[in-house]
Amino acid sequence: MRNLNRKDLITLLNQQPMFKTISAVADDLHMECYVVGGYVRDLFLERPSKDIDVVVVGSGIDMAQALGRRLGRGVHVSVFRNFGTAQVKYKGQEVEFVGARRESYSHDSRKPIVEDGTLEDDQRRRDFTINALAVCLNADRYGELVDPFDGVWDLQDRVIATPLDPDITFSDDPLRMMRCIRFATQLNFTIEQDTLDALQRNRERIKIISGERIIDELHKIIVSDSPAMGFELLFQTGLLELIFPELAALQGVETVGGRAHKDNFWHTLEVLTNVVKSGGGEWLRWAALLHDIGKPRTKRFDPKQGWTFHNHNFVGEKMVPDIFRRLKLPMDERMKYVQKLVGLHMRPIAIADDEVTDSAVRRLLFEAGDDIDDLMLLCEADITSRNQQRKQRFLDNFQLVRQKLVDLEERDRIRCFQPPVTGDEIIRIFNLSPSPVIGKLKTAVKDAILDGVIPNEHDAALEFVMKRAEELGLSPAKS
Ligand code: ATP
Ligand code: MG
Repeated sequence: MRNLNRKDLITLLNQQPMFKTISAVADDLHMECYVVGGYVRDLFLERPSKDIDVVVVGSGIDMAQALGRRLGRGVHVSVFRNFGTAQVKYKGQEVEFVGARRESYSHDSRKPIVEDGTLEDDQRRRDFTINALAVCLNADRYGELVDPFDGVWDLQDRVIATPLDPDITFSDDPLRMMRCIRFATQLNFTIEQDTLDALQRNRERIKIISGERIIDELHKIIVSDSPAMGFELLFQTGLLELIFPELAALQGVETVGGRAHKDNFWHTLEVLTNVVKSGGGEWLRWAALLHDIGKPRTKRFDPKQGWTFHNHNFVGEKMVPDIFRRLKLPMDERMKYVQKLVGLHMRPIAIADDEVTDSAVRRLLFEAGDDIDDLMLLCEADITSRNQQRKQRFLDNFQLVRQKLVDLEERDRIRCFQPPVTGDEIIRIFNLSPSPVIGKLKTAVKDAILDGVIPNEHDAALEFVMKRAEELGLSPAKS
């Protein structure tokens, strides 16, 4: 955060030639005109600014059209009459124009009744004080900051607060609750106490928001530098339970006969943070969030073993498509990737816990394919044990698994496994019509390679097929 006086603001505005042009057009039309919202906030925060939002006291559409005429060649103006807004695209820059408005809301909709208003009316309808800053663009007041809700103070204090009573701001448009947590997470700000309390009080209102809008915000949280903070806030305010109940269900510790299991929600957030630290991207982060999602459904207490979560990886793997569908996440190879990692996330640990054999590592490599490196990152992130000795033993064994992965990959090229003897070849040799025995032979070859019985080579595999076929009573066709 830097402090900016009017002179500084003028200097910054002048770095963007568009503002001078807007200023001239606004003065021609005798309209008050301001750059507003995120753009101004990001000037103070020294964040890269994206799109420009401009408020005019009057018609935003008239203003945009006049600007379009002034800019001439290469400009593109789109008008959205229903919303009373217009967008001007020029040299890769997007500027959104809107007339200052006053909004009033009814209870059951995000759609407000909109009337023309003053600049201050327009600032009151904005979500947070830090998003309600405006800088005048008219020549006589060029660079003047208008900040009726002390947004600059809040930037300084690193606080998210609503300009109005937070119960009104959130209840009017509950999407703002998601935005609140998203901004706190992205900017690493705290949420002012009244605002935080209101999040909790108004949480049920999130139900009127579409899944697409919610996932947009969740996405921004997940790709931020500290997504765990966002999930912690979602959990604390009770929003998580409403938008992502499977994740909230991981929270809690049960004790039987003095034996407790770990809290899988906080564990999951730790894993998420670890994955972020090791450079994991969006979908590896999703895999971290979902890796233990099957635990609540598989939890059992066994007097001998204590708490168990048998097959929670497979149960979790099965839950992934439903979760993706409901959250409006893509149902494509990205979903399959997350599913695969959730399903396999116990394997490297199981191998490292036992003797690290070639055959176990080859099988892992075969199943994980090109996602093996991400799987290893996830598994290392998953070791959150407080017991340093135990943790170290796992990490050491992991090194062993990693080393073996490299050795075996060089030798056997399992990662992109292609059967060295194809079904077609088997059909030709034995003059078979397609039948289950072909699949059986191919599986036998694959297993023999993974178990290290034969090398991953054509001639060795063919010899193996001939032998196995003979046992099955097949003989090669005469040519
Ligand atoms: P970013 O673009 O980084 O997500 P931003 O603050 O620019 O952040 P936008 O969604 O682009 O966010 O919105 C621009 C401005 O419009 C905001 O700064 C805020 O003043 C206002 N705004 C956007 N959405 C809402 C909303 N749901 N309720 C109230 N004001 C909003
Ligand atoms: Mg923006």
